[in-house]
Amino acid sequence: MSTSSTSDAVLTQILKQLDAMQVQQQTMQAKLDALSPQPARPEPPPPSSSRPIAIPAARSTSAELGTSPTPSVGSPSVGVMSGTASSMPHHTLTSATATEKERERLLYPGRVNLTTYPDQHSIRPYPLQWGASSPEARGPVICSRLPGSIKARNALGAHSGSYSIYRALSIALGSLSPTHKPDFSMTEPPVDIPPNPAWGAAGGWSMGPAPASGGYGPIVSMDPYGHLVPQVFRREMEEQGLDVRPSIAVTRAHIKMSELDDAVRRGDLAVDGKVVLQSRPLPGVNEPGVEVTVSKAAVEPVWHLPGVAERFGISEPLLRRALFEETGGSYPELITRPDIKIFLPPIGGLTVYIFGNPAFMSDESKELTLRVHDECNGSDVFGSDICTCKPYLTYAIEECIRGAQRGGVGVVVYFRKEGRALGEVTKYLVYNLRKRGGDSADKYFKSTELIAGVKDMRFQALMPDVLHWLGIRKIDRMVSMSDMKYDAIVKSGIPILSRYDIPEHLIPPDSRVEIDAKIAAGYFSSGKQVTEADLFKTVGRTWEETEH
Ligand SMILES: [Zn+2]
Repeated sequence: MSTSSTSDAVLTQILKQLDAMQVQQQTMQAKLDALSPQPARPEPPPPSSSRPIAIPAARSTSAELGTSPTPSVGSPSVGVMSGTASSMPHHTLTSATATEKERERLLYPGRVNLTTYPDQHSIRPYPLQWGASSPEARGPVICSRLPGSIKARNALGAHSGSYSIYRALSIALGSLSPTHKPDFSMTEPPVDIPPNPAWGAAGGWSMGPAPASGGYGPIVSMDPYGHLVPQVFRREMEEQGLDVRPSIAVTRAHIKMSELDDAVRRGDLAVDGKVVLQSRPLPGVNEPGVEVTVSKAAVEPVWHLPGVAERFGISEPLLRRALFEETGGSYPELITRPDIKIFLPPIGGLTVYIFGNPAFMSDESKELTLRVHDECNGSDVFGSDICTCKPYLTYAIEECIRGAQRGGVGVVVYFRKEGRALGEVTKYLVYNLRKRGGDSADKYFKSTELIAGVKDMRFQALMPDVLHWLGIRKIDRMVSMSDMKYDAIVKSGIPILSRYDIPEHLIPPDSRVEIDAKIAAGYFSSGKQVTEADLFKTVGRTWEETEH
């Protein structure tokens, strides 16, 4: 061994020891923090013109707040447990004399703890075995910071995705008690989404041909038991007082869309009295049109970090580091709590619309029609003609209904991934660039790349999870031209028997730019073939042409 490599080895060893010492020191500090009494807080300056805290909303619900059950509290004096106060007398919250500082202290009596560590005093995450074959073996996902649950917390982040910020506002403003416990009785699903082998097989995924998704099974971005939480984790919630929340809700509805009225009028859809119903006549309305019965499910993301990392082919530490850094350091426990494997990210979820009998989704003898749609608010809701999103969506809904009427089932999954998950601000900046730069199909993807740095951030690898949750084993008709969606689904182990692109007559003229660019980039097209060389010929309207 040469001298230099010896000294390298020694240096590496010293560095390792320093690292270990640093971790020990942090742990000691955390333990010390937990033991030392709370330092006296300086009194706030006398309120010269202190604004009285008028919280009318809290007052109106104070009776309910006052009686809300208090979760069992272990040893609330432990410093790390800086959750919200459960025994807080709510009348003081609404006291007109309380200052903002006092109110903050009432809401959050513990000191701010920026992070926690795995071997910290009294921290015992509730055991969670992702991919286990039963809810009992799997265990509940707990991300609550309430005193009765914070020690058992086995998930980072918060429920409701990005809406967790509005919850924070509600609590800060005094309109919501931080200890409010929802009453889930009467909220159970009216439609059965029953367990299937994809939800979990003991020891990891072990059914059929191993999907490319790897050892954590085909579901890593949602909690398959999310809609059954109050039922399957009743013991944990009622007997152990743990704050466990549903991350999925299933319900039924009637939908009414003018495009479906038009389809019935054209004779493209039939009123069958089961899926498509004649609407009741309304006074003063000549043609009340139709409505369609659907079952639907709203799903919040619940990420199993090792599974998500594996799906993307990156390491879990790298995934955690990127999530920590790119959320402005919002979740330090991504770094300090490698023992917690679940993260509820602050992003939008998805909604599933089911046309026909939901039980047919897992019945391979029934024809299944599918559309996976990524949100495009401008088109989907407001009818912007620069893209084909809404025509595609309504065409897919029609196809789903026709499939259901033939004795099959139709599924539309609507993902909150606005503007290819780049967001609307980026999307509109790209629109501006396109309109100023001569909107031609050859520049379509380049324009997005110039602004966002990438063409697309939707990364469809997690998308098929919801299909596996629904019990879908094969897709007869996929209404989509996206090769990324197709590849992700097939790679996850679900075969697609045929694909449908949007009929020519439904493509708004100005969105031809988008469609041609996509076809040239390899998207599925049953008819028109477009080459790179053709793209400069497909141009959209400029603003000047639209301003009269
Ligand atoms: Zn669109």
